[in-house]
Amino acid sequence: MAAIDLRSDTITHPTDEMRRAMAAAEVGDDVFGEDPTINALQERAAEMLGQEAGLLTASGTMSNLIAALTWCSRGDEMVMGQEAHMFWNESGGPTALSGAQVRLVPNDANGKISAADVQAAVRDATNIHVPATTLVCLENTHNRCSGGVMTPQDTREVVDVAHAAGAAVHLDGARIFNAAVALEVPAAELTRDVDDVSFCLSKALSCPVGSVLCGSQDFITRARKWRKMVGGGMRQAGVLAAAGVVALDTMVERLADDHPNARRLAAGLANIDGLTVDPDSIHTNIVIFEVDREKVGDARQVIAALREDGVLVSHSREQSLRMVTHRHVTSDDVEEALSRVNATIRRLAASA
Ligand SMILES: *Cc1c(COP(=O)(O)O)cnc(C)c1O
Repeated sequence: MAAIDLRSDTITHPTDEMRRAMAAAEVGDDVFGEDPTINALQERAAEMLGQEAGLLTASGTMSNLIAALTWCSRGDEMVMGQEAHMFWNESGGPTALSGAQVRLVPNDANGKISAADVQAAVRDATNIHVPATTLVCLENTHNRCSGGVMTPQDTREVVDVAHAAGAAVHLDGARIFNAAVALEVPAAELTRDVDDVSFCLSKALSCPVGSVLCGSQDFITRARKWRKMVGGGMRQAGVLAAAGVVALDTMVERLADDHPNARRLAAGLANIDGLTVDPDSIHTNIVIFEVDREKVGDARQVIAALREDGVLVSHSREQSLRMVTHRHVTSDDVEEALSRVNATIRRLAASA
C-alpha cells in the first residue's frame, strides 16, 4: 500500500521536462550576472508579477531574509501578522540578522491583516522614542491560516497605509500563484502594488530548489548584495533556474486541480466524528483541521497512527493537523486518503 503524502507541496518532484531542461541549460557565472538561464527566469518572473527585476535565491526563507535586510536596519521595526511564516518558521532570521524588531498585528481566519490594524501599528516618524516602521510584511496565500487568500483590494488597502507611513511592503508570496489561480486573476494583480514579492519554485510548482524575489531595479540591486553576504551567490545555478522556467510555463495553471482536491478533503474530514474543519474556508491547497483530544487522542499520536495506515500529514499547532494537496495527489488519492483517515480515526476513537 503506497502512502499518500499530504505533508506538504514541497515534496513534489521535478517533471521530466524540467529534468531535460536542467540537463540542457546554458549556464554562466551568476555572481558576474552571466548565467543566461537565471537571467531569463528572473525576467520572466518579474514580468509575471508586474515588477521590474528578479533575483533567484536558494529558498523562500532566504528571499524573506534578504527583503528584511534590504528594507530594515538595526533599531527599525517591521510589522507583520501574528501567524506570519516569517515570524514562526524562519528561525528568527528576519529580526535577528537585520537588527530590526517585529510588531505583530492580528491575522483573521483567512490570514488577512487589516489596514486599520496596520494603521494603528505604524510609528510616528517624528517621535525619537519609538522605532521607525520601515517595513510591512504580507503573506499570500497564508500558510498557517489554511491557505487563505488576500485579494488585490485587501493588498492595496494595506499598501496605501504602509506607504503613507513611509514603510515599504514585502509580500511573502511563497504560494502567490495559488492565490492568483484561486481568485482567477493574473498574479500581477496581487503583486504590482507591493514594493517586493518573493515566491517559491520548490512548492507546488514542483521545482527541486529555489525562490525568486522580485521588485524594482533599485531594490534588486541592493538585494543582490545582501544575497552575496548571506552566501546565496550560486554561480552556474542555471541548472536550477531551467526548472523554474519550465515551472512558470507549465505548472501554474494546473494548480487549479489542487484546490478542489483540498476542498473535497476538507468536506470529507468534516464528516468524520472527532475532526473539525469548515470546508467553505478552504480556498487553495492547504487544509488545517482540528482533532478532538477527548474523542480521538493527542494530535502527535494521530499523526503516527495515520502514518501506519498510509496517510502522511503534518502538525500545525496543538491539536491541529495539516494536509496539503499537490501534483502527486489525484482526486482518487483524495478519496482513498479519506477512507483511510476515517478508518484510523474510528479505531482511535474506539480505544480512546
Ligand atoms: C514555505 C514558505 C516559506 C519558506 O520557503 P522555503 O523555500 O521552505 O524556505 C516562506 N513563506 C511561506 C508563506 C511559506 O509557505
